[in-house]
Amino acid sequence: MSRGRQRKPAPTRHLTSGSISRRTVLGVGAAGAVGLTLGACSGDDEAFGSSVSEASPTDASAPQKDEDLPPVPDGLPGELFTIGVASGDPLPDSVMLWTRLVADPLDPTGGLPDAPVPVAWEVATDEEFADIVASGWEPAEPRFAHSVHADATGLEPDTWYHYRFSVGDQRSEAARTRTMPADDATPAQLRLAVASCQEFNAGSYAAYGAMAADELDLVVFLGDYIYEVGGGRMEPKVPQRITQTLADYRVQYAAYKRNPLLQKVHRQVPWVLTWDDHEVGNNYAGVIPQEPESPDGYQQRRAAAYQAYWEHMPLRTGPPQTDGALKIYRSIRVGTLAEFFVLDGRQYRSDQVCGDRLAVPASECTERLDEAGTMLGADQERWLAEGLAANDTTWTVIAQQTVMFPLVINDLVLNLDQWDGYVAARERLYDAIIDADRDNVVVLSGDIHAAGATDLFAERDGERLPVAHELVTTSISSLSTIGELGPAAVSLVEQVAADAVYVNAEDHGYGRVTITPESWTTEFVTVADVETDDAPASVDATVELASGSKRLVRK
Ligand code: FE
Ligand code: CA
Repeated sequence: MSRGRQRKPAPTRHLTSGSISRRTVLGVGAAGAVGLTLGACSGDDEAFGSSVSEASPTDASAPQKDEDLPPVPDGLPGELFTIGVASGDPLPDSVMLWTRLVADPLDPTGGLPDAPVPVAWEVATDEEFADIVASGWEPAEPRFAHSVHADATGLEPDTWYHYRFSVGDQRSEAARTRTMPADDATPAQLRLAVASCQEFNAGSYAAYGAMAADELDLVVFLGDYIYEVGGGRMEPKVPQRITQTLADYRVQYAAYKRNPLLQKVHRQVPWVLTWDDHEVGNNYAGVIPQEPESPDGYQQRRAAAYQAYWEHMPLRTGPPQTDGALKIYRSIRVGTLAEFFVLDGRQYRSDQVCGDRLAVPASECTERLDEAGTMLGADQERWLAEGLAANDTTWTVIAQQTVMFPLVINDLVLNLDQWDGYVAARERLYDAIIDADRDNVVVLSGDIHAAGATDLFAERDGERLPVAHELVTTSISSLSTIGELGPAAVSLVEQVAADAVYVNAEDHGYGRVTITPESWTTEFVTVADVETDDAPASVDATVELASGSKRLVRK
């Protein structure tokens, strides 16, 4: 493929719709980028080119036909689809399909031989796969942990599909996915779940059990898909260690992805994911670790973590570049209804100020006001400002990691890892929203294992301007950090979040969102018990934002 392309889709081979050449397929993908715009090229063309020729009996640029499907290597284990399938990053005409072949999740190789395995995929309009509209195959390569990223293109907008993978006569479970409406379509509604923070050690995935019963179009995941800490009560257990190497991270993802409730939600709808810190290590910033743990090696550790992340997610980008960078910030458009700006608040941020301590007196930490402080990095900041200015959808969604609302009480800044530690960067973002003259800006946040809903204000010329509305989703399972500190801490957060219409610092769950042209409704779903898989879930609070309104309202 040509160099200097804006984005690099995964190395997909197609065999339907006649003989589509690889070149043609990439052309279609580029046209599809109207809906989902990646910041820039990620991935190493050369690396893929060389491996593809090894992995495949055919030239990478030649049309792929059924008869081109190479034979399955000898000695494959009996069960290959143990960590499930997924789809993600939907466009009006395509969806990314993902799987990884794993027989033994505790083995970094997945228990697979050191050889590429051809994995076929098919997309149908019906559950029985009688009407197959797209299909192809990918070489699952050992150097990418036998993961598969297939770009299913040529699909109809705003349409549900069924997909599945196969290796020889082994077949994955069938799954469902959907495309987004055409860019100029006017959808009546979009239903999504917002989730984050699923430390496997800390609890069950009952929240996913509840989510699986929802009728959703999309899951938006805001980070902490894994935690770097091993051990605990997961089945199969993850080794007791801190993830450092590519092998460690692969085992971590495989262990997490064995969970049947998590797999179930992945089988039902496309996901749009971003990461937070724990996909690498707690509170890292750029290439700076929280602890002075072999700082020389952190770049390598981060590169390993990013590669493993890419290997396990249905991302429309990657693999990571040779320096380990992986550009994941992007936008996803849902007709004229909404555009999701999905941010990366970890890879490019400046180091946390004032030692990244908790509850620091504001008067002792003026560094947090430094202009040089950045959460997104200059390129992403510019991309976001330009995107906000150009955006013409009813709802503008900023899907990101950490809490934007100021959590400062009695001069104490509670958490410098949040936007409170990057005040100038927050002001620049508010400026971008004000300059874009947008109503209906919704910020989605995770990270603090607590839920909340609040309006966001910018102080300008002595005036308090409402600029956006923040919905913080609680953790799926990770410890309620604030709740664990006791009722005093909970009430402290309730006080400090004076503009909030809802705070819940104790429960686990997710946000269930219904977006229409008239309103944005968030149901904060909580589970009754985070230690039981089938714990019942209920709606703890419903918060609504009418289109054009400056205020969230609790129903
Ligand atoms: Fe977390
Ligand atoms: Ca986090």
